[in-house]
Parts: sequence; structure tokens; C-alpha cells
Amino acid sequence: MPIYEYHCPRCKVYEIIRGMGAAPAEDTCPTCGQPARRKISAPHVSRTGTAAFQLIDSTTRSASEPDVVSGALPSTGKGAAPVYSTNPLHRKLPRP
Ligand SMILES: [Zn+2]
Repeated sequence: MPIYEYHCPRCKVYEIIRGMGAAPAEDTCPTCGQPARRKISAPHVSRTGTAAFQLIDSTTRSASEPDVVSGALPSTGKGAAPVYSTNPLHRKLPRP
């Protein structure tokens, strides 16, 4: 959620975390109760390039937009398929 800054005429600037577009243009200062106006400031985008932010972003995005897998699963390096049964009749069963 974005952080919105408000400027109180008596105190100073304080920040409130609200939902996107849910911040009113005017708010009540939590310290003195005076009406405070919302400040327009530059967004803090310096964290977007960090590995931690990319991990959080990809985890959040994968909940609604899972990555598309176009190839086979990565092999385990053994080459042969694992043996699930030693019964020779199971080899005659239809394969998916
Ligand atoms: Zn105040």
C-alpha cells in the first residue's frame, strides 16, 4: 500500500499508509487534531531494483498471474525415469 504524506500547519509532515486512491485530500492530524492537507511528493521507487523487492513483487504477482511453463520440467540429472514398481506387468499398463 502506498504511503501518503500530510502537512499539518501546527505540527509538521506525517505519513499515513492507505489503500491506493483511498487517501482523502484533507485529513485530521493524529497529534493535534487540526485539519491537514495531503502533500504531493515523488514516489519512493529506489527500492524497486533490490532483490528483496523483486522477490516480494514476483511472489505477489504469481498469486494472480502464475508464470507460464513452456518446456519440460528440469531433469534431475539421472537420465532414466525413476522406477516405481518392479512388477513387469505394470510396464504393460497404458501410459498417460
Ligand atoms: Zn498537527
